[in-house]
Parts: sequence; C-alpha cells; structure tokens
Amino acid sequence: MILLAGPCAAESEQQLLATARALPGDTIFRAGIWKPRTRPTSFQGAGNDGLAWLSRVKQETGLPVATEVASAEHVRAAVAARIDYLWLGARTTANPILVQQLADALAIDHTGVKAVLVKNPVNDDAALWLGDIARIEAAGVSVMAVHRGCGHRPCWKMAHTLRTERPDIPLLLDPSHMSGDAAKIPALVGQASALALDGLMVEVHPCPAEALSDAKQQLLPEQYRELLPLFAPDQGKTSELTWLRAEMDEIDDHLWQTIQSRMQVSARIGQWKKQRGMPPLQPERFAEIMTRRLNWAQSQGLSGEFVKAVMSALHEESCRHQE
Ligand code: PEP
Ligand code: MN
Repeated sequence: MILLAGPCAAESEQQLLATARALPGDTIFRAGIWKPRTRPTSFQGAGNDGLAWLSRVKQETGLPVATEVASAEHVRAAVAARIDYLWLGARTTANPILVQQLADALAIDHTGVKAVLVKNPVNDDAALWLGDIARIEAAGVSVMAVHRGCGHRPCWKMAHTLRTERPDIPLLLDPSHMSGDAAKIPALVGQASALALDGLMVEVHPCPAEALSDAKQQLLPEQYRELLPLFAPDQGKTSELTWLRAEMDEIDDHLWQTIQSRMQVSARIGQWKKQRGMPPLQPERFAEIMTRRLNWAQSQGLSGEFVKAVMSALHEESCRHQE
C-alpha cells in the first residue's frame, strides 16, 4: 500500500513540519511548491524555498518527500535537492511535448528519485496517459499512475483502461482533486478499496480553512487517520464486474444530473409560455421530438418501445415542471 499525504501547497516551513509530524510513519509526504493555478492572482507556490523546507521535513521526521514538477528546470532543482518522489500534474500530462521535456531531463539525471507519479491528464484520454507513462519510463525511472479524474468527474473508465493495459504498475487514487470536497473523500476511498487500487494521495493541511489553495478539499491530519481504515484493498475480492459497476454508477449519476438540468430548462420554458398565455402541452412539438429520437434510436439498436416510454415519461415530468 502506497500512501502519500500532505498539503496541496507548501506555505511555510512551520506548516510543513506541523503537518508531517501529525502523519503516520508510513506516509510519503507530499507538498506542491510550483503550483499550476488557474488565475495569475492566486498563490503560485513557494518555489525553490520550498525545496529546503521539504529537506527539513525529511531530516526531522524521516518521511520521504514528494513534489510536483512541471518543467525540466523543476526536475533539475528537485533532483539536486534529493526529493524522493516527483509527480506530474494533470495539466502537465495533457501536454506530450512538456512530458517529453521532463522525461529528457530525468534521463540525464534522476539520482535519488525513487519513482515518478504520473497523474491522468485533465481531459478523459487513457491513451495520452499511457503515452505519458511510456515517455517517463523510457527515462529509466520507475513509474506509478495516479487517478485524479477529470475536473470533479471520476472517469472510472479511464482508470479501468489503465489497470487493464498496465497491471504491472501501481495505480493510486487522488480523492482530493477528484472530488474537490473533503466531505466526498471517504466514499471515494471506499471505492478505491473495492477496486483494489494500490494506494492513495490525499491532501492534508493543519488548518484547511486557511489553506492558500484547495481549501475545500483538504483534510485535518486526524481526519486522514480516520480515513485509512476504509482503505483495505483486496485483489481477491475485486473483478472486472467491480470496475464495470463503478463505470455504470458514474453514467447513472451523469444521466440523472442531465435529467435534472432538462427539468430546469423546462421550468423556464413553462414561465415563458405562461407569460404569453400558452398551455404547457404543445402536441406538434412533442410529436417532432419523439420522431427525431425514434429515428436516432433505430440507428443505435434501441427498441422503439423503450424510446417511446422514456420520452413520454420525460415529457410528462417536464409538463409537471411547467404547471
Ligand atoms: C496537486 O496534486 O497538487 C495537483 C495540482 O493536482 P492535479 O494536477 O491532479 O490537479
Ligand atoms: Mn491541490
């Protein structure tokens, strides 16, 4: 079992030491020092100062340390500072040119690097993720994969592909970035356990509300300790079926959210009609929608009966939202 925990970003030496001291002894301590942020006005990370803070954590606590690298320059600085584990973030792994530059820098020198963790790209692209892994492996360094989903969608299918194509490399879950919400982390860790993943990367901060980045998703050290018993992966208990059910549940989540969005639009259409004295039911519009869907469904191998039943139920519920 491979466990990484620590703050989203290194904010000060004190913050790193306080967090690391509160973590279990089998933790690989993570902290980002070069932060890929959406807005230029957000906290961009401590930069090179953070390398010295991480070295201090390693010296004081004996925990191995990990940080994110997003350029060849970062690789050289992190290797020189004897950082044990490096990870490539989701924005970096979306760009093969950049990943190749990092791989080239690692090929020249990866002294002391125990492994490079490759997160899935921000876009749902298993082939690109596999390609990133191949580029980094070619540098002669050992690799692990970290599944962090796309935005806040799990994209289990992508992780399933990774597991199927590369059963030989450890696959970890990052429930913090996958959910963006501390309250959703325990359920995701339960899922990672059921899928018999090999480890976790979790954001932990001594005072999440005051974190300079990702405040909503960071756990207190004691919450992290409470989380760990939920993760008991057992290869013997998982199967293709567990993966397919995870994929199906995600599709259902999406389907119901889509239905909910449809009802919201429906209610707005209802308002528009009401203001103009139109009744909710417009038979010619319903007939047109039904014909269009029936034609499409035929080409997809769905039965006409099924499509009629679903469209009628959707339409009935929509009319109810327009009353
Ligand atoms: C991180 O782990 O700090 C991070 C930036 O994650 P991601 O690249 O998955 O968004
Ligand atoms: Mn983060």
